[in-house]
Amino acid sequence: MADILVVEDEPAIQSLIAMNCTRAGFTVRSASTAAQGQAMVSAVLPDLIVLDWMLPDRSGVELAQMWRGDARTRKLAILMLTARGEEADVVTGLDAGVDDYLTKPFSPKELIARINALLRRAVPEASQLSVALGALSLDPSTHQVTARGATLKLSPIEFRLLHYFMKHPHIVHSRGKLLDAVWGDHVYVEERTVDVHIRRLRAALAPHGCENHIDTIRGGGYRFVD
Ligand code: CA
Repeated sequence: MADILVVEDEPAIQSLIAMNCTRAGFTVRSASTAAQGQAMVSAVLPDLIVLDWMLPDRSGVELAQMWRGDARTRKLAILMLTARGEEADVVTGLDAGVDDYLTKPFSPKELIARINALLRRAVPEASQLSVALGALSLDPSTHQVTARGATLKLSPIEFRLLHYFMKHPHIVHSRGKLLDAVWGDHVYVEERTVDVHIRRLRAALAPHGCENHIDTIRGGGYRFVD
């Protein structure tokens, strides 16, 4: 389930987008100003941003340029909304690193189709395939993990961590490598954060007798075994 951030100051359009995204099965957060949008991106990275061009405090183009210039947000998928249709403006938007744009007024159907197309481009097909190892099975398209048939409740980070382990079993992963692969180029995260999430992941696996899938390698990191 993709996480969409909508940055749009017109309440009617913001709720129209949010409603259609929710109906399409996405998780949606909304911001009405550039500052709010920036704060939400700093807190949690979304999978895609629907970004209005004209915002009260800062233009969407400036925001997009800033996100493209930052290693942590460089790969964010951005769909720009614009009330202007002029060719020159669209070119400016695409130069700023926007992946696609849609001119207002737009049909909700087309918006969802564009979002889906961008998400497909952002997520390589292979990473959407489900994996089954030992007693565990994980389905990225539904974000579901089952252990001996029972559904597990995992946070998004623990889910990504387990997914990465299951895609790369039997290999020792250092904490730094796990940070890069699971958290992305996130400069604010310390290596011991990995230990905290491994602990939580093991705690979630323990009631199903699956905690031994994750091995601690002294001085090395962690390894998934089946
Ligand atoms: Ca606006």
